[in-house]
This record gives sequence, structure tokens and C-alpha cells, in this order.
Amino acid sequence: MAFDVQAARADFPILSRRVHDKPLVYLDSAASAQKPRQVIEAMTRAMEHSYANVHRGLHTLANETTDAYEAARRKVAAFINADVDEIVFTKGGTEAVNLVAQGLGASLHPGDEIVISDMEHHANIVPWHFLRERKGVVLKWVPVTDDGRLDLGAFQGLLGPRTKVVALSHMSNVLGTINDAKALARMAHEAGALVLFDGCQAVVHKPVDVKDIDADFYVFSAHKLYGPTGIGVLYGKAERLTELPPYQGGGEMIGVVSRDEITYADPPHRFEAGTPPILEAIGLGAAIDWLSGQDRLAIAAHEHGLYDRVRERLAGFNWLRVIGDAPGKGAILSFTIDGAHAHDVAQILDRYGVAVRAGTHCAEPLMRRFGVTSSARASFALYNTEEEADAFVDALTKTQAFFA
Ligand code: PMP
Repeated sequence: MAFDVQAARADFPILSRRVHDKPLVYLDSAASAQKPRQVIEAMTRAMEHSYANVHRGLHTLANETTDAYEAARRKVAAFINADVDEIVFTKGGTEAVNLVAQGLGASLHPGDEIVISDMEHHANIVPWHFLRERKGVVLKWVPVTDDGRLDLGAFQGLLGPRTKVVALSHMSNVLGTINDAKALARMAHEAGALVLFDGCQAVVHKPVDVKDIDADFYVFSAHKLYGPTGIGVLYGKAERLTELPPYQGGGEMIGVVSRDEITYADPPHRFEAGTPPILEAIGLGAAIDWLSGQDRLAIAAHEHGLYDRVRERLAGFNWLRVIGDAPGKGAILSFTIDGAHAHDVAQILDRYGVAVRAGTHCAEPLMRRFGVTSSARASFALYNTEEEADAFVDALTKTQAFFA
């Protein structure tokens, strides 16, 4: 079944707006995706009709809201083939990695090794750097090949008896490379390490099955998945979450509190101190409902088609350098233009209504690896059209003329 992009677009109110009197061409979905009406309405409806704090009350609104919040957890669990108690709501992908790093760090020793890669987002670097600073663990870096793949031979060579954790991106937010999470997990487990995947990008573009991957931990955020900001997901295998100490202390995460003693709730609530992102969970549930109503493989094919179309046209431009050309990569195009700063490129493209991101993309080690200080990035989502892909290339050609 072909994907009906116009029908999908009709669900995203923002896509009909204009920027600088041009139709908006939104190619910044890897930073944050736009929201379908169904998400907006689900959150509004909750606030207008059935809102209270969760878990605490015995009154009708509290019970209804608790049901909606826990229903969202079940939707997330089904979406990635997890059990419901294996889903922890956090405030984002970043917090989910911090939660795991801080929890695992409690039992790590100086000289223990954590393997990450040169293609990680800072969200999957800095929390491990904290452990280097605070616990004396050693960070080992998987190098990236010239076309933007993880160097698997080098990865194998980094694994050893001191490897405790492997934390890798499932899909790079800069290169678009999709890593073979299942193979990486197998290699990590053979070395006796736990494995975490940063799925912030991957989960948007392909069906993810955490059991099939055999991930110990898998994290993502809602706002790239057509859901709201302010909520992310940590999946942890039940036995891993049970072993993990609490992250923050406060209401809802305890068993019993006395002057001298404290016990903790079971996962997932052990990791959800304080009032959680209730409306955001409802919004995320609506986003998953919306996405689940689409043919996800057809969406992936549509996004790849857009990428290939742009890539083909760019092939003739000798002033443009593409960073990341891994086979089977997702629809993210990072590039530099000879003699132009990426920020200037993004600002000029904006004059043509085209929204792209520019900078280091929170991936400074990767920028260094490719010898650039910044790049521009166009990221394609399900709602982008062939006309928009062409408008982007045309705007790029005009932009380059400023620097020629
Ligand atoms: N990892 C990757 C690959 C990302 O693209 C992002 C978002 N830019 C993050 C982690 C962090 O997610 P968040 O900002 O939603 O916490």
C-alpha cells in the first residue's frame, strides 16, 4: 500500500503556514517533529475534560487521569514490544540516558570500561563522561568509517573483560546511519556487557522490537515521534530495572518512608519521582495511536524516496559535501557548502521558507571526525513531499550563489 502523504499532511495544522511569504518546507524533524491534530486534541481534551494528578486521589478525575496515564504506558510498551512494567517515563531521551548511567555508575569501579562511539549525540556521551570524572571509568570509542558506519572490527577489538556497558546510537542524528542493533547487542553480550541503545532517531523511522534486539536499555523521546516535548521513554529489561537504584527521590517512588528508613516502589514507578508528565504521556499515547494507524514500512519507503531524490540531484553539485553515506541510511542529509558557514546556509534557506538545522548537532566528536566545525542538516519526515524535496534543492542552488 502506497503511503498517502497528502492525507497525512492534512493532520498536521502547522504545515499549512507560510514563512517569509513562502510555503513552509519543514526539514528539521530530526530536531523535533511537528504534531498531528490528534495529539493536540488528546492533550486539550484531557485538560478540558478529565484532568487531575495521577495515582494520588480516590476521586473520579484522579482515577480517569491515572487510567489515561497508565494506558499511555501500555501503548508505548506495545509499540516497542516490551512489557508494561519495563516502560519508565522520563522528561526526555536525555534524562533516560542519565537515569541509566547514574544507576549503573553506582556499581562501577575505576578502570571499568564503557564503550560508546564517535557518532553519539551528547546525550549519550556526557552522562558517561560524568562516570569517567566521578568513578574513574574508562571511555572507549568505536570509530566511524569514512562513509559513516560504525567500524565493527574496531568495536570487537574494544570489547574485553572490563567492558561493563556498551551505549550506542541506533540511528545517527547527523549521518542518518542505522546501526544493526541486534548484532551490536549480541557482540556486547558475548563480552558480558550490558547494552543501551539511543533510539531517539531510529524509533521514528522504523519499527523497533526491543526483545528481538535484546537490548538491556532502549531510550527515546516523544517530541521527535510526533508527540509532545517534556516526555521520554526508558525501556529496561525487567531484571535490569529491578537491579537499578532509584534516580531521583520524591513522591510516588517510595514504598515506605520513616525517619530512619526508606524502601522503594517497584519499577517503573521507582524511577518516576514527583508529578510525572501526565498530559505529555497522553499526547505520546495519541502520537503512537496515530502512527500505528499508518503503514510504517510504506512511510519508511516514502522517506527513503525523498532522500534518494534529493541525493541524486545533489550528486552534480561539486560545491556540496555530504557527510554520511552509509548503505541503507535513513533520510537525514548533513552537508557543507564550500566557502559557506552552515549557520549562514540555514539562514538563507529560511528566506526561501526552508527550515534546516545548522551547527554541531550536539555531536562534537563526530564533527571532529569529519574535520568540520559544523554542518547543515536537512531531515525528512513522513509529511514531506517530493515538491518540498525539489524546493529544498532549488533553494540550495540559490543559496550557493551567494557564496560562489
Ligand atoms: N539522541 C539523539 C540521537 C538525538 O537526536 C537527540 C535529540 N536531538 C537526543 C538523543 C536527545 O533527546 P532529547 O533532547 O529529546 O532529550
